[in-house]
Amino acid sequence: MPKTHVCSFCGKTIEPGTGIMYVRNDGSVLWFCSSKCFKSYKMGRDPRKLKWTLKYRAQMR
Ligand SMILES: [Zn+2]
Repeated sequence: MPKTHVCSFCGKTIEPGTGIMYVRNDGSVLWFCSSKCFKSYKMGRDPRKLKWTLKYRAQMR
């Protein structure tokens, strides 16, 4: 069974075979569900401040 990943930015589940893998300088691997999330991460945005992420909703509890 293929391993599923969770988007490091928005927190959504990534379907196997999709998404973007990104390796940081320190060797840790990040997964992004879309280029939108990847770009937002590269821009240094805080996912907890963006309404379309699951991390935004998670903190609203
Ligand atoms: Zn995402």
